[in-house]
Amino acid sequence: MTKRAIAHKNSVSKSPVIKKSVAKSPVPKSPVTKKSVANSPVPKSPVRRGKGAEGQGSGGAEGQRKTPVAKTPVPKTPVAKISLRKKSVLKKSASNAETPKNQKRHHFRGAKSSHDQPKIQPRPLPQTKYENNIPLLGLSLSQLTEWVQQQDQPAYRGKQLHQWIYQQGAKTLEDITVFPKQWRENHQDVAIGRSQILHRSVALDQTVKYLLQLADGQIIETVGIPTQKRLTVCVSSQVGCPMACDFCATGKGGFTRNLAVHEIVDQVLTVQEDFGRRVSHIVFMGMGEPLLNTENVLAAVRCLNEDVGIGQRHLTISTVGVRDRIRKLAQYQGQFTLAVSLHASNQALREKLIPSAKHSPLDQLMAECREYVNITGRRLSIEYILLAGLNDAHAHAIELANLLRGFQCHVNLIPYNPVKEADYQRPSPQEIQAFVDGLQQRHIAVSVRYSRGLEADAACGQLRASRR
Ligand code: SF4
Repeated sequence: MTKRAIAHKNSVSKSPVIKKSVAKSPVPKSPVTKKSVANSPVPKSPVRRGKGAEGQGSGGAEGQRKTPVAKTPVPKTPVAKISLRKKSVLKKSASNAETPKNQKRHHFRGAKSSHDQPKIQPRPLPQTKYENNIPLLGLSLSQLTEWVQQQDQPAYRGKQLHQWIYQQGAKTLEDITVFPKQWRENHQDVAIGRSQILHRSVALDQTVKYLLQLADGQIIETVGIPTQKRLTVCVSSQVGCPMACDFCATGKGGFTRNLAVHEIVDQVLTVQEDFGRRVSHIVFMGMGEPLLNTENVLAAVRCLNEDVGIGQRHLTISTVGVRDRIRKLAQYQGQFTLAVSLHASNQALREKLIPSAKHSPLDQLMAECREYVNITGRRLSIEYILLAGLNDAHAHAIELANLLRGFQCHVNLIPYNPVKEADYQRPSPQEIQAFVDGLQQRHIAVSVRYSRGLEADAACGQLRASRR
């Protein structure tokens, strides 16, 4: 975190200074902004199916500019189209939230029966009528219904509250004008759990990096990556990151704390409101290592899927590898994509780039990945940052191909994005192509991904919670 970012740490959320500091951007806003969001109970914005913007491991935004270089048969999987144009779909989504058994479950080789699988649980409901300091964002429809009843309101208010929080962008209970005025005044201390936008920077490709201030003054970054058909959000899962990857600005800044469920969900709602269009894809590739905050990340995945309405197959969780966590994650049999950031083809090189890798040896990591694929039936994404003269030699390509032989995966090569904290270089286009050829000749499915948002320091590995 830079001095400037720290200076903002103690800013009061409603301070006019903060409002001023929000930079005006040239991002064209659709008419579905504040007004229409407030007036329309059902935002009209189709969510399209497609593959997530998977990218350069954690620590930044990855764009959809993709160079497919190997034609490998990809198993087609049915994705439920979610269109919020139809109220009936909203009802269905709410119904799914309350009846997990209705959700489609796919069973694969080695899969446990649905009775044995641990379910992704929402955050616990506040226990007493007066326990009002727990934010409401992140609670399910049934929990919100239970909560309003605790607060002496009829059950149907729960559905209203759910809609205002997740569809209409209510920041406080005061915003929810369908609730009785007196009741709202009596519940002014109840937080919904939204953040403040401290700063936004816009790259030439219209990627937007946001500095968000949390209730305790901590600052995180999140990135909105628009294309014509998609809006992808690269979310953070921690304030800082303890993994200390040598090429990553976030890792250089140290670790402060895990993010709570509402702080993760808020990032998606913030980007959605700012762009005035529906978020279609989410990648957990911002600040932090998601599998060090698994419980909250999974609770946020549940909420984003069931309450916000984003298909699980449009979500990607990225990890550099934390011992036993991938195995544990497999038990949930989620339909999200798991992206494993290898960045090296052998243990010694991996430890040099990712110091925490010594606790998660490559052979064990690969064993967990195979188990994950066997249990979930989901193909893995393997992320590999190309660093000139370090891990981009032909020998590395061969070593990587041998490591992944027979493995159900797709390799994403990410040419390095420069950060001032590290002295690495991006390979030349010829070197990148040579690496691609090395993998392709050994029948490894591979793509080259160029990060979006480079000029705004919003690309992979460039997030550092500062305004630069
Ligand atoms: S330091 Fe953390 S945020 Fe950065 S790449 Fe490593 S795991 Fe991801």
